[in-house]
Amino acid sequence: MELRILDGANSIGGTKILLDTGSKRLLLDFGLNYKRYGLYFEEYLKPRSSRGLADLWRLGLIPHHPDLYRDDLWPHDLKREGEPLAVDLILLSHAHMDHCGLLGVVRPEIPVAATPPTWGILKAIQDAGKAEFHAETVYAVPREPVPGDPRALKAAAWKAAAARGREIRLVGEAPAELMEFLRRPPNPRGRGLEPGNIRSLAEESPGGDIRAFGVDHSIPGAVGYAVETDAGWVVYTGDLSLHGRGRERTLRFVEEAKRLRPAVLLIEGTRAGPLGGENLTEEEVAARAHGIVADSRGELVIADFSPRQVERLQSFLGIAEATGRILVVLAKDMYLLEALEMCGWLEGVLGSPHLAIYDDVVVSPGAWERDIRERHRGRIVGPREMREDPGRFILAFSFWDLKNLLDIGPEGGIYIYSSSEAHGEEEEIDMRRLWEWLKYFRMEVHGFWIDEEGHLFFGGGLHASGHASPDDLLFIAKETSPKVLIPIHTEHPEFYLEHLRGAPIEVRPVRNGVCVRL
Ligand SMILES: [Zn+2]
Repeated sequence: MELRILDGANSIGGTKILLDTGSKRLLLDFGLNYKRYGLYFEEYLKPRSSRGLADLWRLGLIPHHPDLYRDDLWPHDLKREGEPLAVDLILLSHAHMDHCGLLGVVRPEIPVAATPPTWGILKAIQDAGKAEFHAETVYAVPREPVPGDPRALKAAAWKAAAARGREIRLVGEAPAELMEFLRRPPNPRGRGLEPGNIRSLAEESPGGDIRAFGVDHSIPGAVGYAVETDAGWVVYTGDLSLHGRGRERTLRFVEEAKRLRPAVLLIEGTRAGPLGGENLTEEEVAARAHGIVADSRGELVIADFSPRQVERLQSFLGIAEATGRILVVLAKDMYLLEALEMCGWLEGVLGSPHLAIYDDVVVSPGAWERDIRERHRGRIVGPREMREDPGRFILAFSFWDLKNLLDIGPEGGIYIYSSSEAHGEEEEIDMRRLWEWLKYFRMEVHGFWIDEEGHLFFGGGLHASGHASPDDLLFIAKETSPKVLIPIHTEHPEFYLEHLRGAPIEVRPVRNGVCVRL
């Protein structure tokens, strides 16, 4: 057995782990390392799709194993150098981009395993967004050289070249409706989609040497994996928590992992740090937000959270129902919710009379959006209705949607920031802009504030993390009781060394690129 952390050992996200079991080569996740990416790129300085792999490759943002990558993304002037590496299967833990945001540059012929909700979310995001080429997670749009300039690549003509669907391996059963969705081109009158094979992971692993276990995290469909190797079981947590509504799943995962007597536990450590402290549950967040909305009769409420965090969306939908309001989401959020409903993940959400779609200004809507607007035409709410009766709505908006406020023109109102704290300078700058917008509309803000000296604070108990608390991380480590524990997805690997001293677990912090052989 040989393990190599290609990326994401000492950073939160960017996870790419190579696991050679003795008979198979697997990759655990293929995420975008936002921290390293952010050293070079930002919103308006991005890797050029016209240069294919070149920018990511030269800056070392993708591992230098040329066999991993799509042939159509190699510009003529980029040499295929580096270690050959044949990967049999990629195991995706969940649909957050720091775990799968570079999958788009990987050869679509390499099979990728993930749960039905993960595939549903990724397809919805790719269909509804203008996917960066490195986030073409479900289907790859073929590129070709530009005649006359061999450095440049462009998308092949849509009539001539269909997008290529990935080889999908499903963790668990997928309903026929989801299978159809995964094979459906985003625009029935546009570029075709030639689907890859969609099969069950169980077929790939008939002996049960690859097992997946659902875990609690801030996005539906997250799993941890256990893989049998010639040196025993290797268990990978993915991202997980023990205080969300799915905490029972994490407990079962820990129980099953323990039973395998793992040789290695690759454990996330996003919140590794001082023990104790506040660890809010989703129920506590919902209760506080409910209190704020109940006290805001007659005023517009804006709730800022990621609709991909479906538990939070369900909390705000519950609050809307209890306070006689309507939760208004964007069309792309509704599209994502529909994909999740196909997987049976959303009881009673789509059918709720308290859910509506915001009538955004769209000049030329994509096929998916026309379709959504058509099917939900009875529940589209625009700025005029909001201005006339602001107390009837909870608007699910974030920073990026604030421009719509200029159309609505609220006079005061309540803003509930129910998302994670800013990480890094750029996000901090965005929070300051958000604050200016809210001041402009004289909104009462909950969840963050900026004091008179300009210091930014977060608080108010309106966000529960998707990651286990330090105490819970240690509980998971001790219960699972592996021979060797390797911290990943953390800026504090020493946390495990300090707190597992004396336990019969060997903690081995590693750096990116280091090989662990057992
Ligand atoms: Zn995550």
